[in-house]
Amino acid sequence: MSTETVRICCQERYVPPGLLLQWHLTEQCNLRCAHCYQDKYAGLELGFKQLLKVLDQFTDLLKSWRQDCGRRVRGHVTVTGGEPFIRRDFLDLLEVFAAKRENFSFAILTNGSFIDTVMARRLRRLGPAFVQVSIEGTHETHDRIRGPGNFDRTVAAVRSLRAERIETFISFTAHRDNFREFAEVARLASKLRISRLWADRLIPTGSGSSLHEQMLTPDETREFFETMLKARNQARRRWFGRTEIAMHRALQFLVAGGRPYHCTAGDSLLTVQANGDLYPCRRMPIRVGNLTETPLAELYYHSDLLSKVSLLRNERRSVQGRSGLLAHIKRRSEGGSRGGVSKRSVYSQLVKK
Ligand code: SF4
Repeated sequence: MSTETVRICCQERYVPPGLLLQWHLTEQCNLRCAHCYQDKYAGLELGFKQLLKVLDQFTDLLKSWRQDCGRRVRGHVTVTGGEPFIRRDFLDLLEVFAAKRENFSFAILTNGSFIDTVMARRLRRLGPAFVQVSIEGTHETHDRIRGPGNFDRTVAAVRSLRAERIETFISFTAHRDNFREFAEVARLASKLRISRLWADRLIPTGSGSSLHEQMLTPDETREFFETMLKARNQARRRWFGRTEIAMHRALQFLVAGGRPYHCTAGDSLLTVQANGDLYPCRRMPIRVGNLTETPLAELYYHSDLLSKVSLLRNERRSVQGRSGLLAHIKRRSEGGSRGGVSKRSVYSQLVKK
């Protein structure tokens, strides 16, 4: 992307407040969880050199915002899979992340199978912001969903991570079979000195696409949020081993208060699939392009979809307000179609408001 293009973007306030790249390094996985988002466990994945090129595209974009716009945009990469530790070059990639840590932070989402004391010690040296594993309920429920023996392996991984003082998160996917077990997971999280426990509801997609009947009803959803809230209040009263029960997702604010969840897909959240395909979010399966063919900055500013998302985000940001959008549209109108957003699409967005 040329410097001139970036400057234009700065004027039009197309700089996001942060940029989180959720990076699926592989589709391979040693588990076959019942509710997995994936529907296959093999496929084209980028070689190590290609991974480094993608990383360069990410850091170049952050750098251009800093140098050309004077905006220090916080960058963060969350690496996951499949199971990222399956890749033989995974730790080599983390070494590169660690070497570039002044540019962005990184975290790892894993099923925990490959983390023992030796691995945890190595990870501590690499300095991830956090490592996240999933716990799906009681020992029995977890093993039913993720496979026999997995609960014990996950808990052992958490203990190894905590022994190295690595921030560790637990995620919980709620469905009809397990949502009443959340309180038990919260107690375990507290005992294990987990930094954060958060939960989202099952989305039946991929291997879990047949699980529609497992989705929570509205009444069950409310009951689940109330269970979360109670667990959160209990956790806050604990003096030692305090675990944050995060309630920032989707409709959780209805029970927990606070700000409504604000989806940032396509704006400050982007997802890269194992083959380099770029999506606004894993749960929004609209392919924007492929990073081996088109650089990230080019797609961020010039793809039709991401340009429109940015436009809508800008309008929503109260600091910029409606006058900012009008100024933006005026500039767009005067300058003609640029960055994949035609005058017509800009005006159609305005008309919809
Ligand atoms: S949910 Fe995660 S750990 Fe389970 S099969 Fe899918 S990719 Fe593997």
